[in-house]
Amino acid sequence: MLKPSKIVCVGRNYAAHAVELNNPIPAEPLLFIKPSSSLAALPEVGIPTRLGACHHELELAVQVGERLQRATPEQALKALCQVTLALDLTLREVQDKLKQQGQPWERAKAFDGACVLAPWLAIDDSAALQHAKFELYCDEQLRQQGDAQQMLMPIAELVAHISHVFTLEAGDVVLTGTPAGVGPLTVGQQLDLHLHIAGHDYHWHGQVQAND
Ligand code: ZN
Repeated sequence: MLKPSKIVCVGRNYAAHAVELNNPIPAEPLLFIKPSSSLAALPEVGIPTRLGACHHELELAVQVGERLQRATPEQALKALCQVTLALDLTLREVQDKLKQQGQPWERAKAFDGACVLAPWLAIDDSAALQHAKFELYCDEQLRQQGDAQQMLMPIAELVAHISHVFTLEAGDVVLTGTPAGVGPLTVGQQLDLHLHIAGHDYHWHGQVQAND
């Protein structure tokens, strides 16, 4: 089992999500990092309850199987070994305040449990990644629907770009951005995550708990 030293995330990789939060579409990817201490595994979805709204951001997550430094998109795609879904948990009110003050986002996005991962799936066909579709249901209501083909920067280019900014170590994880439909989670909610990739359907369950 490869352990990530970091999780690299991209903000605003789907145009409709940038628009829903009144953010401009960036000219180059907006990157931030979650520490490995933020990792949690489904079905555990623990949210802080005293810091304002904690939003779900459902994202396609990929893991790199080898060290990547200043890679080409082809090298980056070849280096990807596993894929799954992630919830980039975000304290939205804290983040809004940090944005207003021009401060970094870690308080809103790097807390313990802020990166929830579904079980990893081996990538047999890397060409299928860009055709993945995924959904998040909260208490059986459809909240987010993603189609990797709608990414502003496709996965291979994104991972290659990241590897020019930070070295990606074997095991590091990249969260590829959230589609529209982000919203607040509440304690007790039942979550259903669906991933459709390479002709297969995967279904995972999560339960929202207080984590203060
Ligand atoms: Zn995100």
